[in-house]
Amino acid sequence: MDNCIFCRIIRGEIPSVKVYEDDDMLIIKDVNPQAEIHLLLLPKEHYANIVEMSDAQARTLAACIKKLSGMVDELGLKDGFRLVSNKGANACQSVEHLHIHILGGKPLSEKMC
Ligand code: AMP
Repeated sequence: MDNCIFCRIIRGEIPSVKVYEDDDMLIIKDVNPQAEIHLLLLPKEHYANIVEMSDAQARTLAACIKKLSGMVDELGLKDGFRLVSNKGANACQSVEHLHIHILGGKPLSEKMC
């Protein structure tokens, strides 16, 4: 998607702090962290949210999350973390490219959006 900010990050057109990358996903630091550790898991394939996700995309995303579970120590998440994916503006989704928030450590904000 030409103008999708996460597609542009994935293509390297917009800078980001990359934590992990493979053929299926990119993990970056969120630019506006809501917790001590706030990462974003971005599937490289563009789709808007879990409602738009195909069966094949769901399988890829599940494999990405399984891979993430093996990276807990290196990402500093061994004491616990939350995974959040917002769908729709009413649920605070601001970027229409599916992403999983990975939140660990102390919250930095009480706000929901
Ligand atoms: P959501 O509101 O669930 O769609 O989450 C979008 C997230 O993307 C927010 O937490 C933003 O802080 C984050 N974000 C937006 N632009 C960038 C960027 N260029 N680099 C890293 N994170 C970003």
